[in-house]
Amino acid sequence: MNSAPIAFVDLKSQRERIRSRIDAAIAAVMDHGIYIHGKEVGEFEAMLAEFTGAEHAMGCGNGTDALQLILMAEGVGPGDAVFIPALTFIATAEVAPLLGATPVIVDVLPNTFNMDPNSLEDAVTMAREMGLNPKIVIPVDLFGQPADYNSINTIAERHGLIVVADAAQSVGGSVGNIKVGKLATWTATSFFPSKPLGCYGDGGAVMTDDPTRAALIRSLQVHGKGENKYDNVRVGINSRLDTIQAAILKEKIAIFPCEIIARERIAKRYNAALFDIAAVPTLAGNIKSSWALYTGVFESRDEVMLKLKDAGISSVVYYSLPVNRQRGYLNYPVAPAGLPTADLLAGKVLSLPMHPYLDEQAQARVIDTVRSAVIG
Ligand SMILES: *Cc1c(COP(=O)(O)O)cnc(C)c1O
Repeated sequence: MNSAPIAFVDLKSQRERIRSRIDAAIAAVMDHGIYIHGKEVGEFEAMLAEFTGAEHAMGCGNGTDALQLILMAEGVGPGDAVFIPALTFIATAEVAPLLGATPVIVDVLPNTFNMDPNSLEDAVTMAREMGLNPKIVIPVDLFGQPADYNSINTIAERHGLIVVADAAQSVGGSVGNIKVGKLATWTATSFFPSKPLGCYGDGGAVMTDDPTRAALIRSLQVHGKGENKYDNVRVGINSRLDTIQAAILKEKIAIFPCEIIARERIAKRYNAALFDIAAVPTLAGNIKSSWALYTGVFESRDEVMLKLKDAGISSVVYYSLPVNRQRGYLNYPVAPAGLPTADLLAGKVLSLPMHPYLDEQAQARVIDTVRSAVIG
């Protein structure tokens, strides 16, 4: 049996596919020399807005900055509660305390891994009783699947919360005919290389339909500029999408729809081959995932991971610790019923190799290895 290593994410195959176009795009930037705010930035922003349907898309330094800029635009500060799911990358959690606000950690649902609306509702009541001002909820579209925005937007409206979608993993997904980018008042995304739409370094974007909010981001990301960057009307930060990264993203977004279709095909194949031995990811009927990651719930997770490693196949645990168990976050409030689902999942989730260039033979090897680890 072939035992060549199988990568978790394979950026090299994509590089080969669009090598000449990427090389030309980078060379064009080096020739015009406008490395900051070059024309490619606006061109990519227009493509991203077109792709998602969002009225305004603004490139920035990375996905974490995108979240921070949004919270700054909403004036988040001490005394404010920012509700986040327990199962996520730490960036979702860190932006609240960075601005002096309190992250309040909410449980997730067992079948989608996304924020549990009932746990959110209870956490909002609890935060108010603690004397906090419930201000922002950040649902995360974990592994590429949009969160339950219908329920969360309704709860947010009832309690006066602003909804900020953490779509770092989910651009390319949708609910019905509404794409990620348009499912909440604000959307933040990341172009970290391994995300479904990644660049060749750090990058991110903020999306919104609201022109006033968009203008605030444009100011905050350039040192709080007014008329120009030497006229400073508020305290801001420096967070830009580099021209070279925008030029690369223009080429990558052109092939992105095909890549999403490939990811869907691969996810379906995994589901069909593993549903009897693991809890495989399920999508509600009208939901499309970007399939950033393919994550199953395995009773003998560590055993499966070990067998994969022995076979030269990469797999990763996203995430082995819920936010509230991270040492820097032990003292922040959690939803009143605790976070039993996040705790359970953290012990059993495993993400398998997933990228648009995973061929059928390689995927069959992953599947055979997982099956033999579970059923011997
Ligand atoms: C990657 C990621 C981020 C942060 O993006 P960066 O560009 O690395 O700052 C935020 N939230 C989630 C859920 C992510 O996966």
